[in-house]
Amino acid sequence: MSKQAFDSDVLVIGGGPAGSAAAAFLARAGRGVVLLERDRFPRFHIGESLLASTNDVLRAIGADEAVRRAGFTQKWGATFMPVPRAAFDDLLLRHAAASGADLREGHRAIDVAFDADGVTATVRASDAAPAAYSLRARVVIDASGRGALLGRKFDLRVEEPRLANVAVFAHYSGVPRPAGRRAGDIRIVARDDLGWFWLIPISPELMSVGVVLPRAAFRAFAALDHEEVLARAIAETPVVAELLAAARREWPVRVERDFSFGSRAYAGDRWLLAGDAGSFLDPVFSTGVAIALESGLEAAQAVEEGIARGDLSARSFRRFSRRQRQRYLSFRRFVIGFYTPEFRDLFFDDDPPERMYRALATVFAGYWRPSIVTRVWVALFLALARLQKRIGFVPRREAAQREPGSVYSKT
Ligand SMILES: Cc1cc2nc3c(=O)[nH]c(=O)nc-3n(C[C@H](O)[C@H](O)[C@H](O)COP(=O)(O)OP(=O)(O)OC[C@H]3O[C@@H](n4cnc5c(N)ncnc54)[C@H](O)[C@@H]3O)c2cc1C
Repeated sequence: MSKQAFDSDVLVIGGGPAGSAAAAFLARAGRGVVLLERDRFPRFHIGESLLASTNDVLRAIGADEAVRRAGFTQKWGATFMPVPRAAFDDLLLRHAAASGADLREGHRAIDVAFDADGVTATVRASDAAPAAYSLRARVVIDASGRGALLGRKFDLRVEEPRLANVAVFAHYSGVPRPAGRRAGDIRIVARDDLGWFWLIPISPELMSVGVVLPRAAFRAFAALDHEEVLARAIAETPVVAELLAAARREWPVRVERDFSFGSRAYAGDRWLLAGDAGSFLDPVFSTGVAIALESGLEAAQAVEEGIARGDLSARSFRRFSRRQRQRYLSFRRFVIGFYTPEFRDLFFDDDPPERMYRALATVFAGYWRPSIVTRVWVALFLALARLQKRIGFVPRREAAQREPGSVYSKT
């Protein structure tokens, strides 16, 4: 087995943003890449608001021009760009193929075996012959999303009990929007049970609307089906109920749960994890696609350097691993904070100090390793949130708005 010829230098499992970014970069660098995607694109995927930092990766893999030409909804603020994910992911997958990756849609990796010289994947094809075959490569990038093929195989997943939330969502038409440049604004509406709504305009007609509820709040709806849960959460949240008064639901209601988790490791001998296959954080700051693209690019760069050096061992990927963990922990502070009253008291403050506001906007645009000055302002914000917990120096929103259904929102 170990002397068997390689089908490609690199095997990439999963054609979401992480896998497409990795495959496009390596193919453009002249490496042989097989990209396996179990579905056929375009396919539905939740996660429609993108951070500004995604533009840097799109440029690095040569997809920026194609994304610009596709004319997704424009957002004029610093941080978010809303997109229909089916179209966005499809564009990136085609870009990877156009860059030279051997794209195989409808081909699912079942398992990966490792030996001293390479990796061998067992693949099942849904409508091609042969239906099952094996593929040999020097190294594998697992970008299989939250299915996490290698994460499960190696038991790497670290649960996040403090983020055990449930998301319930659908697409709606007929939701009123502000006129002009602000029509593409994303709206976050926080509920006093520490849940929150998103309203993301993803096309001129459609709005993605979803609620994220802490598991305890979701349990209060146990007797209801998913349609009723979303309808009840909307009805209980006056700002959202008003916006959706004349709206029509265009999709069945979907539910995702227990989506936040870390990883004990992000790389090993001949393998790397990219995007959700490594770890995923609650969607409140829309970091998913930005992290997926960035980590896909970084995995590809680590592999490229490893092949050039002739070293595809865990040691060779140590820097890659460290960076994935640092980014995860960096955003995690804010995500965990968001589900505490004291963080929200400050986050939804109508008149924050200008420098602090700018510092947070930089981080929430995806730039998680900002300048030292920005870091100091961010650290000050987090310190103030701790102080708020102890002495409540700004008015407590939950205390001031104790009646059920009270909300505050940010666009
Ligand atoms: C409720 C919710 C809301 C979200 N909102 C946002 C948001 O607003 N903004 C944002 O940036 N992110 C958001 N996200 C997260 C975001 O969608 C993900 O982080 C992002 O899709 C990760 O990209 P990926 O490429 O790692 O994985 P995916 O996009 O999941 O892609 C993985 C691909 O791998 C394929 N695959 C899986 N297993 C195999 C296999 N064995 N063989 C071959 N192919 C396989 C799958 O079919 C899939 O196409 C949200 C997530 C949730 C749960």
